[in-house]
Amino acid sequence: MVVKLDVSGVGMTSQRTRNRLTDRLREQGIVNEAVLQVMASTPRHLFVDEALAHRAYEDTALPIGNSQTISQPYIVARMTELLLQDVPPTSVLEVGTGSGYQTAILAQLVDQVFTVERISALLDRALGRFRQLGLHQIKSKYDDGHLGWTEKGPFDAIIVTASPREVPVALLAQLQEGGRLIIPVGDPEAQTLTMVKRGVDGFETTSVEPVRFVPLLGGKL
Ligand code: SAH
Repeated sequence: MVVKLDVSGVGMTSQRTRNRLTDRLREQGIVNEAVLQVMASTPRHLFVDEALAHRAYEDTALPIGNSQTISQPYIVARMTELLLQDVPPTSVLEVGTGSGYQTAILAQLVDQVFTVERISALLDRALGRFRQLGLHQIKSKYDDGHLGWTEKGPFDAIIVTASPREVPVALLAQLQEGGRLIIPVGDPEAQTLTMVKRGVDGFETTSVEPVRFVPLLGGKL
């Protein structure tokens, strides 16, 4: 399923700039062509403040206000690729909407995308961007994502874009059998991108690579 973005009036930067970013992602080992294509056509500059828009196609995390950051494109590509690997999911829960960039990428590759954010100011801005791009199928919730989204689960996949010290149990409970959770876990100074697969008789955990995310925090702001 491919959802076409409405980029009219978005002021896209040159295709060449965006291709440079995907060339870099390829060099770093991203191989999923669908992910690369969606990243090449999504206007990341819309997801950062205007003052930082000129840096939007660099492979770097950038501040989005409220002490939060938009994830580095490489990490977005890597997590999305892991999520789609083997059996592509139909329903995905994202914890940590932030700018909404990862959500927008997912929404072009997966039928049902649910996203939860604990900072209302960030969520409001992200929702404005989804509307502007015509991504009307994204369902969002203002809440503490430690709890997942019980009413909408279980999910084929869950992606967490902030880091807890340990995997929240509520998220494991909302994984479909055969489903996977992609999450950065560990000490704030030494986090590991981790994939947890739910099998018939339990969970299988794989460490992917070291990463650095903002912390997964409790409560709402
Ligand atoms: N995917 C986002 C990443 C934003 S940074 C992007 O690319 O823009 C991580 C986000 O997780 C922040 O917006 C932060 O507020 C949010 N977050 C942290 N703890 C959370 C929690 N318990 N529930 C929901 N969101 C949370």
